[in-house]
Amino acid sequence: MAQKNKLNNQKNFMTTIQSFWFADALKKEKNIKINKLNKNLHTDICIVGGGYTGLWTALKIKEKNPSTSLIIIEKDLCGSGASGRNGGCMIPQSTKFLAMKKIVGVKDAKRMVKASEDAVYNIRDFCIQNNIDAKIKIDGVVYAATNKFHEGAFENLIEELKKNKINNWERLSKEKIQELTGSKRNIDGYHSAIGGSLQPALLIRGLKKIAEKKGIKIFEHSAMLSYQENKNIIVKTKNGSVECKKLIVAINAWTPSFFPFLSRSVILVSSDMIISEPIKDKLENIRLTNGLVILDSNLFTHYCRTTTDDRIILGKGGNTFAFNNKVIPSFDGPSTIESFLKKSLVSFFPSLKNVKITKSWNGPSERTKTGFPFFGYHPKNSNILYGFGYSGNGVLTCYVGGEILSSMALNEQNDWTQSNFCKGPLKLFPPEPFRWFGAIIIRNAVRRKERAEDRNQQPWWFDQKLAKLATSVGRVDYSKN
Ligand SMILES: Cc1cc2nc3c(=O)[nH]c(=O)nc-3n(C[C@H](O)[C@H](O)[C@H](O)COP(=O)(O)OP(=O)(O)OC[C@H]3O[C@@H](n4cnc5c(N)ncnc54)[C@H](O)[C@@H]3O)c2cc1C
Repeated sequence: MAQKNKLNNQKNFMTTIQSFWFADALKKEKNIKINKLNKNLHTDICIVGGGYTGLWTALKIKEKNPSTSLIIIEKDLCGSGASGRNGGCMIPQSTKFLAMKKIVGVKDAKRMVKASEDAVYNIRDFCIQNNIDAKIKIDGVVYAATNKFHEGAFENLIEELKKNKINNWERLSKEKIQELTGSKRNIDGYHSAIGGSLQPALLIRGLKKIAEKKGIKIFEHSAMLSYQENKNIIVKTKNGSVECKKLIVAINAWTPSFFPFLSRSVILVSSDMIISEPIKDKLENIRLTNGLVILDSNLFTHYCRTTTDDRIILGKGGNTFAFNNKVIPSFDGPSTIESFLKKSLVSFFPSLKNVKITKSWNGPSERTKTGFPFFGYHPKNSNILYGFGYSGNGVLTCYVGGEILSSMALNEQNDWTQSNFCKGPLKLFPPEPFRWFGAIIIRNAVRRKERAEDRNQQPWWFDQKLAKLATSVGRVDYSKN
């Protein structure tokens, strides 16, 4: 059930405050003023969706071409989607290099890896320059093996990354990985210093504030209901409209409902999370006090990190699949697998057994068949642009998405606009009902396979075959090159 909460400092509006992060970020904003669209306006570019994609795109356009007028409309509050509720794990796209190389070619794949790694520092620098305290910690990323089947999982990947001179991963000894991650369950693994964590909602609310300062008009509680195409494009909301030359649709999980031509390009699945109470002493005991991101090597990885206020979070994707890619109410509720997540937390860190969970939540994560995002133009109107499909890896990649969509919107002829990332979806899922049923069958096979592996038992042959069908939707591509 959707949790509707009333903000303390605002009398007359209701909004979805779903995640711990979002509530925390809104509490820190002294006076939240909601600007609703209730008139008819004109602008050069209208962006629909106030998440990272929408905000980074707007900021990039303003930076490149300050005279462009921009309006963002958001159906709820900026950050009420995935951008205000994700794990805040900054994970570059290097783990998808093998798949990307095969599908978009080595040049484009290298550019994406490099750009997503640069995004770690670009986001940090932007926050420093603009006084956004998003609690950024660049303490690296670890992919750990929790059983013998996952040992050495990155060897092919690293070989290819090295061949292309873009490798930043290093294999660590069992002792080192256990010391770094504070968990005896991890028996092997890889570390990259390029990555880390942040408070996701503080970042998005900070971007909103800076965008407004730069003259970008933002209207919240103003959903796009439809649009009309005349000489210009007219975006309609309940009480107003925006006439624009270009429309950028940055609505992430809601895109397939709005653009049926993209309905087979993604599959919507929950990512579920828990966050603990502050446990400074306990984290110090396991020496886990930095913002290191720790992931296991499952298809839908467990992701885990600590926060600057001494909490620990743990999340996992791949639980609830939405039929027909509709954003269902359960995506706005608490996690339905909270007790499973708590068990996972304790299995990694037995000393956290009695730790209280402050909050659980989930949200829709759109996985593409390729495992990486795509950008494109509406097939019937090249003045309408879209970009999504970050496949659970959007914190850094949305920054790159902003670079790509801004280039497309400004008609720049550059390496991005000419790349294969800008050709719309490159692979499709089957239509419904096959997609949903297939997803459930494969999800269950993946679960059985991973449970067997964690018991160090050989998974069933059939489950291995089924699980292979899903390898691309995970955060890492383990395929042979
Ligand atoms: C629980 C969870 C955990 C995650 N963890 C991580 C992580 O640790 N690391 C990582 O890299 N990635 C993670 N991700 C993915 C990442 O959060 C997303 O890829 C990223 O935030 C996408 O940003 P976006 O701007 O494209 O979409 P969103 O942030 O979802 O923004 C889209 C916006 O569009 C608005 N909208 C929708 N329809 C309309 C309409 N008709 N009119 C106006 N506005 C509309 C929505 O309200 C929303 O605010 C996670 C995702 C989830 C759900």
